[in-house]
Amino acid sequence: IVMYKDVHKSFGDVKVLRGVDLDIKPAEKVAVIGPSGSGKTTIIRMLMTLEEPTSGDIIVDGKNLWHMEKGGKLVPANEKHLREVRGDIGMVFQHFNLFPHMTILENCMTAPVNVQKENKTSAKERSIEMLEKVGLGDKLDNYPSQLSGGQKQRVAMARALVMRPKIMLFDEVTSALDPELVGEVLEVIRDIAKEGEMAMVLVTHEMEFARDVADRIVFLDNGVIAEQGPPAEVLENSTNERLQSFLHRFR
Ligand code: ATP
Repeated sequence: IVMYKDVHKSFGDVKVLRGVDLDIKPAEKVAVIGPSGSGKTTIIRMLMTLEEPTSGDIIVDGKNLWHMEKGGKLVPANEKHLREVRGDIGMVFQHFNLFPHMTILENCMTAPVNVQKENKTSAKERSIEMLEKVGLGDKLDNYPSQLSGGQKQRVAMARALVMRPKIMLFDEVTSALDPELVGEVLEVIRDIAKEGEMAMVLVTHEMEFARDVADRIVFLDNGVIAEQGPPAEVLENSTNERLQSFLHRFR
């Protein structure tokens, strides 16, 4: 469903990605781990089209997102496809980015109603269903300020799910939470993963969680994929020294 081919990304003189090749199959769950600054967030922001690559191809549903113009500048290959891709991808961030002046039900309904022009009744129905799925069926009329961090993050997930994405991106969704709230959020992601049909890319520092949920772990180091494979292989049997020393910090 997604293919990165020799993707490079620089911010000014800083080379963040130096040739990333990555395939993600439909329904596959991929965890991305690696040291701070290794480019994990940049990889998923590029899929959400929030950043463009400096060079290389990012192909979603068989179509390239960007097109190299003669002068070497990348431009969107096709605005319509870019919009479709954005519609197929849901993203949950470290900070929840909920609208503070809307109830949590309204937070979930706003994109289907205002962007996708769906009718209110069916958007509401599905929003309630998703909020129930994340365990917040009794908080529909609460405002974000009345919720804990873990609950806010679960609203952010429900809001992404309401759009029926083919791919969900999770960017360190537990990093801003108090430790006692991490478990409830990971539990919801586990449940979503078990349902199976969506592809998921999870940037995470939770190694046990990555092992449980992911079909494949990708270790990003210095802007390249230094190791990848099934969780047990990557976490236990790799001989990559940089990976060993990275993992050592979590033991
Ligand atoms: P962390 O685990 O700390 O979140 P990461 O692996 O997700 O790190 P990225 O957030 O992808 O890393 O950032 C990689 C590098 O790119 C960092 O050095 C960061 O400062 C730099 N960077 C990211 N976005 C920008 C930007 N918009 N402008 C300039 N530099 C940026």
